[in-house]
Amino acid sequence: VENHFVTAGVYTVAVRTLCEFAAKRGDLDLRFTPSPSAQEGIEGHLAVAASRTDHYASEVSLSGTYQTLLVRGRADGYNKALKRIEEVKTHRGRVEKIPANHTALHWAQAKVYAWLLCERDELTSIEVALVYFNVDSREQTLLLEQHSAQDLREFFTSICNAFIEWAQQEAAHRSARNQACATLPFPFEQLHAEQRVFAQSVYRAATGQRCLVAQAPTGVGKTLGSLFPLLKAFEKQALDKVFYLTAKTSGRAMALDALYLLSAKHLRTLELVARDKACEHPDKECHGDSCPLAKGFYDRLPAARASASASTLPWSKETLRTLAMEHQVCPYYLSHELVRWADIIVGDYNYYFDLSAMLYAQTVNNNWRVSVLVDEAHNLVDRSRAMYSAQLEVASFLPHKQTLPKRLKKDFDRALRVLRRILKEQTQAYEAANEIPDALSNAIDTLIATLGKELADEHDQLGSTRPGLQQLFFELLHFQKISLLFDTHFFFEFDQANACVRIRNVLPAPMLKPRFESADSVALFSATLNPASAYVKNLGLPDNTVVVDVDSPFSSEQLQVNVMRNISTRYKDRQASLQLLTQTMAQQFHARPGNYLAFLSSFDYLSQVYARFHTEHPNIPCWRQERAMSETERSAFLDRFKAGGQGIGFVVLGGVFSEGVDLPGERLIGAFIATLGLPQVNELNEQMKQRMHNLLGDGYEHVYLYPGIQKVVQAAGRVIRSKEDQGVVYLMDDRFTQAQVRELLPPWWQLKLV
Ligand code: SF4
Repeated sequence: VENHFVTAGVYTVAVRTLCEFAAKRGDLDLRFTPSPSAQEGIEGHLAVAASRTDHYASEVSLSGTYQTLLVRGRADGYNKALKRIEEVKTHRGRVEKIPANHTALHWAQAKVYAWLLCERDELTSIEVALVYFNVDSREQTLLLEQHSAQDLREFFTSICNAFIEWAQQEAAHRSARNQACATLPFPFEQLHAEQRVFAQSVYRAATGQRCLVAQAPTGVGKTLGSLFPLLKAFEKQALDKVFYLTAKTSGRAMALDALYLLSAKHLRTLELVARDKACEHPDKECHGDSCPLAKGFYDRLPAARASASASTLPWSKETLRTLAMEHQVCPYYLSHELVRWADIIVGDYNYYFDLSAMLYAQTVNNNWRVSVLVDEAHNLVDRSRAMYSAQLEVASFLPHKQTLPKRLKKDFDRALRVLRRILKEQTQAYEAANEIPDALSNAIDTLIATLGKELADEHDQLGSTRPGLQQLFFELLHFQKISLLFDTHFFFEFDQANACVRIRNVLPAPMLKPRFESADSVALFSATLNPASAYVKNLGLPDNTVVVDVDSPFSSEQLQVNVMRNISTRYKDRQASLQLLTQTMAQQFHARPGNYLAFLSSFDYLSQVYARFHTEHPNIPCWRQERAMSETERSAFLDRFKAGGQGIGFVVLGGVFSEGVDLPGERLIGAFIATLGLPQVNELNEQMKQRMHNLLGDGYEHVYLYPGIQKVVQAAGRVIRSKEDQGVVYLMDDRFTQAQVRELLPPWWQLKLV
């Protein structure tokens, strides 16, 4: 427990946090050290405890106070007969290779526990032991020191003093933050009606400790409408933090803009960005011998942290960079250090939802009370499936074949042989199975063990490991971790064409469930979460999840929706559809010249429609999306949509121009959607359909229909961006007249059959 106020004015801190704060010094060192897994760590601790005598007690809960600080934790072991307290650490490789700053931290923890025990049992001296347990050789290295209670008390006092000033400042910060948020005015005159409904739902979910799924159309103001009520809930819910999680960088920017607009005093906002976006020395490695910003990182961290806490600016990528440069520390790892001290953290989904998510792990370890906001939540199902899938390619093995140390050859060759054999044995280019072949799992387990040991030895001898082998090791480890989760929510794929095998996740619900349970409250929102029950089931949200459908702030008069019942864009009808499609587009353009987007189902279809349109209507300006456009090309494409401009941009539905594109007013006055958006019928999607059907029923709906219509609605959402906009949408397929499809379209649309 930390960052919690047990009683007014008392700050509770875990021994580990206290020591990390006050005793961590030296370089940042993220050189690969093949460290034991969590399971190996637990087994190591049990092995040490099992080797001790009857007088040994494990997991001894201890606590003590210093001024306003309450320090708590569990010592690994205590032998009453010997009067010896033990701190146990598991490791791989040679003990001497454990970095000095790690050992210093371990001693600090051991000595704090030693003092807490001396105080509890009124001892005058105690033996302090640091036990290093090698998980491979199972050897124990025992480092012993004898300390008087007086020495330990002084040590404890010194590190508490280092922390307490910060803790007091933190306590003051929290109270100022809560007060400032409680009295924070809304930045505009008032919330408009739909935004009020949305914001109230978020607030009720937060105070009722519930999960909320809110479908709220474009224009409701969801970013501000979700953040504002949570700031109000900070005090009432005794929240430690709010996580604002996004699918894309654009969502992050909008959240930061909204927080800027709110300009809440005493609110620390932290933006988490990917390492390659924050790194100052991409050509270097993250350790003191390579990167100057890693050298002495922990020596300079306290000053950087103090500057950050004194700053009134949000800890955005830019401000953190300036701050990090002032203090000569790495901006990327500084942002990770600041997670502990931030109030609102804005970052990608993966920080909370993936297998090794940092924010989720810290929430659980530190018992934080957090409220989670999930922006553009319709993306979370697919993103989660990707997070919980894994792939192993023959190509990942090949570069290492020639340079491989002899000791690895046998296990490496065996794994590669098994991989090739199981692929070759398939009669189809693509096959799916309900199990992971045992031979493959066994070969991978063995190779991971050998490779892990090899990398540990390499690290011992050279101080580093070869990045290529490391990469393979990480791929294997990920595959192994996902394979441990394997059950009916996954299937196994043999892909001969790409010479790879995959563990594919179908339904991420069981993996996400504990993540939702660990949060005090969660709000997932998007313009397209229809039907909400599908998201509740796919994501593993609790049964008592609240579902809200917020009205659109726009009126049906603003958007004319024409449904063309005499056209089919089914694959077999595409050639025949070209004439009517292009003719309708040209007619609409002549009736109201301006900027339009035309959405097609694939690049092939796009090419056909575009070519036909260009030939038949050479006087109407048109431009098209190309495959794999660069950032500059994308900007140039969108720059053609000028207010007062004229022309049609042809794009692929579900591509980069279907979502997150904001072209208000005359920059976009209409859209032609010549597809139902259904994913391609192929073996993979058919497998997904079958398996989803087995798990949830309605396989076709979950895999084809819902994602398809969701893309259509997102695309159409580009047209009306404000109450002043007027526009037209053409739904160009007879299937849009079907009741099941119409039910999934926004209720405020008034469909006109043409
Ligand atoms: S600046 Fe880059 S290389 Fe240096 S420690 Fe940070 S992330 Fe690593």
